[in-house]
Amino acid sequence: MSPALLSLRDVTKSYPRGGLIDRVLKGTKPFVALDNVSLDIHRGDVVGIVGESGSGKSTLASLAVGLIAPTAGDILLDGENLAELMRDHAGPWRRRIQMAFQDSSSALNPRKTVELCLTETLALRGVAREGRRQEAHELLALVGLGAELAPRLPHELSGGQRQRVGLARALAMRPDVLFADEPVSALDVSLQAQVVNLLARLTRELGLTLVFISHDLALVRTLCSRLIVMRNGAIVEQGACRDVLDNPQHDYTRLLIAAVPKGLAGRRVGPPASSAGASILERKSPDPKKSIFASRRLAERI
Ligand code: ADP
Ligand code: MG
Repeated sequence: MSPALLSLRDVTKSYPRGGLIDRVLKGTKPFVALDNVSLDIHRGDVVGIVGESGSGKSTLASLAVGLIAPTAGDILLDGENLAELMRDHAGPWRRRIQMAFQDSSSALNPRKTVELCLTETLALRGVAREGRRQEAHELLALVGLGAELAPRLPHELSGGQRQRVGLARALAMRPDVLFADEPVSALDVSLQAQVVNLLARLTRELGLTLVFISHDLALVRTLCSRLIVMRNGAIVEQGACRDVLDNPQHDYTRLLIAAVPKGLAGRRVGPPASSAGASILERKSPDPKKSIFASRRLAERI
């Protein structure tokens, strides 16, 4: 079998606890945010990570995208050690793993227009100046936004639009794998459905490998093929998403499922009945050939 696209091997991340004086005088043990975690992500996987707040989900994502370094263990990209790759040629490797954040308003520069934010990212990827504007508009179309938003600043957009711009920016790098850390938690329910449906479409049409971090089991069920359940910095259970949700093996997973109001964990994500047409998953595109063609074209480039 080919090596996994991204692997964590016995990865631990700990943080010093308390102030410097405590540490020196009392020898306080460090706090372990991620405890000896191993996992493989293969091309085309859509992996959900769930677990209560503080269970280490964001720490795992930050390690995987190279924002922080592990205290112990290895992270491998296509079988090669990420720490070494980052040291030798950070640029190209950083590009391959992208992260979309929970709060896009703080992730976007408030003084840069949507178009500038995208064209600057495209420049980083090495796209020639004359092609950047066109590709920025294609990226906007890919995430369901019109070119009329290009001259706007982040505060002139709605929360859902900002979240899509954040996604477009991550996709501009043509990543091999996208980590989305609670990408819809800050949005209201109907917008959540739209963004999740958009992610579903991107994974289908672009073959994007996605790690979707969420505490919403219903969204995870809709989107993900695999599920990882975390608690106290460790993986307590993982497997095919439906198997884990329908037949949990671990008490903690049962607790998480039981905490969801009845019926919701099984609900399909869609728009409220009144806003017909907002769901990409459930709606046939008016001209599927055209939209698939457009995104194929982009897929070839991404
Ligand atoms: P989650 O995303 O699942 O809510 P996190 O990965 O953000 O959890 O955090 C896991 C634990 O690590 C939390 O208890 C958090 O307080 C702690 N932690 C995260 N980052 C730091 C840091 N820079 N310094 C100290 N502790 C941290
Ligand atoms: Mg988090």
